[in-house]
Amino acid sequence: MPDIDRSDPPNKRLNHRAPNAMSRLSICVYCGSRPGELPAYSEAARRVGHEIARRGWQLVYGGGRAGLMGVVADAALAAGAPVIGVIPQSLMGRELGHRGLTELHVVQTMHERKMMMAERSDAFLALPGGIGTFEELFEVWSWRQLGYHDKPLGLLNAAGYYDALLAFLDHGKTHGFMSAQQTELLQVDVEPLPLLERLAKLAPLASGPDDYRRI
Ligand code: AMP
Repeated sequence: MPDIDRSDPPNKRLNHRAPNAMSRLSICVYCGSRPGELPAYSEAARRVGHEIARRGWQLVYGGGRAGLMGVVADAALAAGAPVIGVIPQSLMGRELGHRGLTELHVVQTMHERKMMMAERSDAFLALPGGIGTFEELFEVWSWRQLGYHDKPLGLLNAAGYYDALLAFLDHGKTHGFMSAQQTELLQVDVEPLPLLERLAKLAPLASGPDDYRRI
């Protein structure tokens, strides 16, 4: 499959992707480019990919075959979901650009990648990962509180991987740097299924158009 050129004009940045009865729910998954130490992390990624397909949804992710990224994409593809990957040209080698996807968008910058992933999605879900995953989750969360989009966000605390982060978020609230309204924007669960269900219920409530032009 040829790579798809990414050259949207700026006015396409203002779009509206609230899902309706006619469209597939599109879930953006952020996760590690490494598999992590525990088999439970790969198992969680496989279940997420499989469930996305089983429900007739679509997966949007970072376009690589490395680590959990490859696991979630392969599970979704194997179970019949369309999978959209978005990867910067410079990472095609390091993150093993996945040539078997429904669409692979090779873009020029990380900024383009993250914006396109957001535009093509109705909800965001972070799985275990490292600095890239943290950055993507926190960025899309801060975009939400700034009003650039109003789509739901989830954190899959597989095998308790994010326990320490969740404790730190409480610390941020205790010390007056975060509000309950902000932390309540993040849906958290240790199990993929209830978390995917919550995101699917919340996604149709997103009513505003995405607007990333001010970023
Ligand atoms: P990691 O969680 O560090 O394994 O990275 C997971 C994914 O996040 C990879 O596809 C990274 O390319 C991506 N990522 C997104 N934004 C960044 C960033 N600012 N720095 C590093 N990785 C990033």
